[in-house]
Amino acid sequence: MYLLKKIPAPNNRIWAACYMDSATECFEIRTEFKDAPGSIQTLYHKEYSIGTALTDFLYADLKVFSVHLEQIKAHLKAIKAGNDLKLHFVQLFDIAIFWLRCSPVFAPLAASIQRQRLYFDQGKKLSVDGIERQMAYYTEIQPKLLYLAENFFEADTPEDMTARYFRQHEELGKKQAPEWYNFLPLKYSDVTYGITMKGANGFFPYDDVLNEERRNDFQEFPAETLNTEEPNDFVQFILAEYIRRNLRFRICKFCGCYFGIMGNTRSEFCDRLIDGSTKTCKEMGSLRLYEKRKMEDPAIREYKRSYKAHNARIRYGIMTREEFNAWSQEARRRRDDCVAGKLPLEEFVAWLDSDRQS
Ligand SMILES: [Zn+2]
Repeated sequence: MYLLKKIPAPNNRIWAACYMDSATECFEIRTEFKDAPGSIQTLYHKEYSIGTALTDFLYADLKVFSVHLEQIKAHLKAIKAGNDLKLHFVQLFDIAIFWLRCSPVFAPLAASIQRQRLYFDQGKKLSVDGIERQMAYYTEIQPKLLYLAENFFEADTPEDMTARYFRQHEELGKKQAPEWYNFLPLKYSDVTYGITMKGANGFFPYDDVLNEERRNDFQEFPAETLNTEEPNDFVQFILAEYIRRNLRFRICKFCGCYFGIMGNTRSEFCDRLIDGSTKTCKEMGSLRLYEKRKMEDPAIREYKRSYKAHNARIRYGIMTREEFNAWSQEARRRRDDCVAGKLPLEEFVAWLDSDRQS
């Protein structure tokens, strides 16, 4: 699709960046402006609800790595030989974007793939070594993060997640449990504190190539930003940010995947797009809840039916207003017991029908 468009080339350096606030996580691929070493040019910017990066990463199919690694080798070989440069650089870009879309946790890998373009322009040696090493890291870390999702992030009630992290780690250490290794050090390098921005998808060089839709509710906010070329820094920074913000994971009742939650939220659905649909789980989920509400509890349905029948008796003079009021008071009490599960539905219905007029 973007074969004919020019993919923006990095200058001097290319790396990944991440920062977040309590609701949004932002991921970037950055380079420097051509004639201004030390400056920052954002090539790619994408933002998600907090918790998306690590939870999406859990479901990434990493078997594709070996296929892509072979493809990357072939592209680099062709580039070295000077064949169809543009085509091969576009196909490398394609692979980088594939992983970025899979989960933003892959931003350092995408940057590494695009770094080959930089090396080519700088006359340096092209090599898959760094890419291969990073793929091995992602493969090693995925089961560890799944362990943390299941055993650490899935907390029932809000709590101090920093305390929880170190308490659990310490307990496993005392037991010399092998799970101890799943607790990653919350360690990373090159963090700067300053003004960052969100609400500006679609304004960066890669977006033009990818035909990204523009979104402009631009806001500035102060945050710590990690700048790195390495996925271990990236993963550990995201992990630490989630933990310090007391983010928890919950399983979406629609797609069954983990998503991030904050505080006391009752949210049961994630905001991922449903496969083959333009609707998210949240949108489909609320539709379902609406239908459920329409269907209502059978005890309430039976109560309404009997209420109408008894009310009609006043009109026919079979029951006085006072008798009806006493009946409806008792009926409501039994209805509430039934909804609360303290009275079987059959018993409730039998009681409602006990004075039935034949
Ligand atoms: Zn979902």
